[in-house]
Amino acid sequence: MSETHSSAAPAAPAKRPAGRRNVELSEELKAYKGVWVFIEHDRSHVHSVSWELVGEARKLADPLGCQVSAILLGGPDEPLEKFAVEAFTFGADKAYLIQDPVLKGYRNEPFTKGLTDLVNKYQPEIMLLGATSMGRDLAGSVATTLLTGLTADCTELKIDPATRALAATRPTFGGSLYCTIMTLAYRPQMATVRPRVMLMPRADASRSGEIMHDTLGMVETQIVTKLLDFIADANSNKINLPYADVIVSGGKGLKNQENFKLVFELARVLGGEVGATRPCVQAGWVEADRQVGQTGKTVRPKLYIAAGISGAIQHRVGCEASDVIVAINTDVNAPIFDFAHYGIVGNAMQVLPALTQAFAAHLAQRSRLVA
Ligand SMILES: Cc1cc2nc3c(=O)[nH]c(=O)nc-3n(C[C@H](O)[C@H](O)[C@H](O)COP(=O)(O)OP(=O)(O)OC[C@H]3O[C@@H](n4cnc5c(N)ncnc54)[C@H](O)[C@@H]3O)c2cc1C
Repeated sequence: MSETHSSAAPAAPAKRPAGRRNVELSEELKAYKGVWVFIEHDRSHVHSVSWELVGEARKLADPLGCQVSAILLGGPDEPLEKFAVEAFTFGADKAYLIQDPVLKGYRNEPFTKGLTDLVNKYQPEIMLLGATSMGRDLAGSVATTLLTGLTADCTELKIDPATRALAATRPTFGGSLYCTIMTLAYRPQMATVRPRVMLMPRADASRSGEIMHDTLGMVETQIVTKLLDFIADANSNKINLPYADVIVSGGKGLKNQENFKLVFELARVLGGEVGATRPCVQAGWVEADRQVGQTGKTVRPKLYIAAGISGAIQHRVGCEASDVIVAINTDVNAPIFDFAHYGIVGNAMQVLPALTQAFAAHLAQRSRLVA
């Protein structure tokens, strides 16, 4: 693991630090306190990654001795206070709300203004966002507007005891290395994290917090982007790999698209989802939304069955947090067996139908007993 400065820091700042350890924050930047989480919501539904990040923010705030705040931007008729109360149950102490007609439906310009204005006014030390389409879009523009560092797609967040800085770890060099990035001379320190990388915290209904209301100060005529209509993507959420409890994934060891149907069969019997490696997606055997790994989805199911998958690092990073991993591979030395909990050395074209048949028989017997 290496350590490096954030590449997202501005190009030629007036007081560029010479070395990592001797960076002394200016008095102005020392005033920045607290860990913030941008709460992403859409059509009265909060994205689970926001609660995962509130849980993670709590772990960062405790050693720093500071508060966790939830940031909620939305339209006047959206239930932001209800979301704030939910954020308290997951670990937030405070919530900053801005409700304005121009914040109904995500658009980069008003959300960037709302978030940067709040940062400039209340000065958080750390700000976390989900690495979703919205989070990625917003984080980049907020970081460049604030002239601070942003580490994207982090897999681990910690507080560096030497500097009290956010140590944000992420894969680099095509996933072959991890690097830990610190934004030492700028505030806030920003990071995005993909859904399911962090654990979902347990809600504590007895927790409460303080709600603060702010105003936006922007009118529709100042915004170039217009929201004309919302047309739901008929295919969105059809494949929900990150939150599936059971995933059966297939790799190139299945040889062709016809054999890949064996993966779908087992997933159907188990009531699970189907995942795949990148070469299977590239070969057109399955949709891109099914790709697990560094450039695909991060998953955390209770059961992950990997058939004909070598276990390359780029695939491993997307599935190794699964509770139980069962690997089926003809090669006893395949890297997947280094991190699988159970290994079956055998031909997937024989093992998959055998498992499907055995599970179908077992589940049918169980449902007869229950009836
Ligand atoms: C920048 C970058 C990003 C990437 N991102 C991703 C990513 O997000 N996700 C991803 O998956 N990959 C990703 N990759 C690709 C990754 O490096 C591997 O090439 C890929 O994961 C290998 O896929 P595979 O295991 O299906 O195929 P292979 O590596 O070809 O492995 C096939 C396996 O099947 C076994 N096998 C063969 N026949 C049988 C059989 N009959 N029964 C059972 N087992 C059999 C073989 O022993 C072998 O272990 C990325 C690569 C790069 C460079």
